Amino acid sequence: MLNRQGRPTAAADASGSGRATFTGNRALLQSEALLFEIGRLDTTGVDIDEPEPFTPRLGGLERKGDIGLPGLSEPEAMRHYVRLSQQNYGIDTGLFPLGSCTMKHNPRLNERVARLPGFADVHPLQPVSTVQGALEAMDQLGRWLLELTGMEAVALSPKAGAHGELCGMMAIKAAIEAKGEGATRKVVLVPESAHGTNPATAALIGFEVKAVPAREDGTVDVESVRAMAGPDVAAIMLTNPNTLGLFERDIVDIARILHAAGAYFYCDGANFNAIVGKARPGDLGVDAMHINLHKTFSTPHGGGGPGSGPVVLSPRLAPFAPLPFLTREGGTLGLVEMARDHAGERPFGRLTAFHGQMGMFVRALAYMLSHGADGMKQASEDAVLNANYVRACLSDLLSLPFGDRPCMHEVLFDDTWLKGTGVTTLDFAKAMIDEGYHPMTVYFPLVVHGAMLVEPTESESRASLDLFIATLRDLALSATSGDTERFTGAPYLAPRRRLDETRAARSPVLRWTPPEPVSEAAE
Ligand SMILES: *Cc1c(COP(=O)(O)O)cnc(C)c1O
Repeated sequence: MLNRQGRPTAAADASGSGRATFTGNRALLQSEALLFEIGRLDTTGVDIDEPEPFTPRLGGLERKGDIGLPGLSEPEAMRHYVRLSQQNYGIDTGLFPLGSCTMKHNPRLNERVARLPGFADVHPLQPVSTVQGALEAMDQLGRWLLELTGMEAVALSPKAGAHGELCGMMAIKAAIEAKGEGATRKVVLVPESAHGTNPATAALIGFEVKAVPAREDGTVDVESVRAMAGPDVAAIMLTNPNTLGLFERDIVDIARILHAAGAYFYCDGANFNAIVGKARPGDLGVDAMHINLHKTFSTPHGGGGPGSGPVVLSPRLAPFAPLPFLTREGGTLGLVEMARDHAGERPFGRLTAFHGQMGMFVRALAYMLSHGADGMKQASEDAVLNANYVRACLSDLLSLPFGDRPCMHEVLFDDTWLKGTGVTTLDFAKAMIDEGYHPMTVYFPLVVHGAMLVEPTESESRASLDLFIATLRDLALSATSGDTERFTGAPYLAPRRRLDETRAARSPVLRWTPPEPVSEAAE
């Protein structure tokens, strides 16, 4: 069936899921066409006078014809974007159990503060004398990060976790080159369970990646690290708590082994939200670690919001921190934009044009100051408690790959429990959509078959967790009692159902083309 725009209706898309509708809308959930489909060339939401005749000064490069952008009136534009926003599921709509991503509540206070003109409207090229307040906020944030991690120096400019990894690994590379070992130390050790960005980062800057096996219990095999750590090794990249939601108990030994071999310890700090206020990476022997401000200090990164991945460095790596960085002379803050020989600085370079994500700095600092040291510690404890509550309430139905040992901030299930049911991890995740939940992370980490990684975060109340758990139990019982249909065609109720994700990734259609006119004869 075609709707008024001549497109297949959503209901027709979801065949078998109830009645098709004339409009393609599903009750009050409105189907929304592309701007190009609904816009008109002769419409605009603004009313501007025709310009007086003028002589262009573009040397013949001026536009000759219409741009051809679709126009909408203001109410039409408003509806278009609000409808699209209603098709998005976010942390402000419901529980977002995406493991590894840490989708926690972002307090509205953060937004209020980030919009203060002194933070929101500054320009990175403004004279520093006019932005002392903004620099003060950056400096305070940096000092909090050093205090919480027990490290020596901080680079604020990286714009995401992966960018922070690049920053930390470039500092390590610079330190190795400064010792004249650049040609020999080419190997970076990465545990099998690592986030894909770790090996990608190491490879990007020319290191050779060697995988470190895990033990039965999911943690890194220390004996393998000992056997592999030699004069060819530059660093290990280790996540703690690891991506299986488990604390690497041997982290101090691992650090000692690496240091004794003349190598560095990079810690992927994306899971720092589980240990803030409980353990300081600097005390554990870490040399460099990025912190995902957007995971640990609120502002979930769904919906395209920016991230921020400051890197903290140990005394051994501090001289290699990238430009720019802050200095304080007397009562005045300044930005160091060029290496100063007298200060022993040997910055490896610069990662971004300017100073990083100001809005994210302000949000993270607002979160820190409003929670306080005790509040941040409690947030970590509650995140771990909530994950363990989910684990305990589901462990009789879903299978735990590493036994019934407590987890940190996220709980990992595998698909052993689905064996013989005809239901896969993907089917299970899709059925959660029909129940109004964004699925958990699936098929990551790769070391576990059919992984389902659930991270509830500290944001969720007991009531919210109980409903989530009851829903998963109901689904799990359906799956194991033969109701495969609930899963194999799911989601039944979503406006769009199973998409060909492989095709979408391999051959994305990035340009809209007008549809063929529907011929009269075919009517
Ligand atoms: C999220 C994450 C990253 C990457 O962080 P981005 O901000 O998404 O670039 C790296 N490692 C781990 C373990 C993560 O969870």
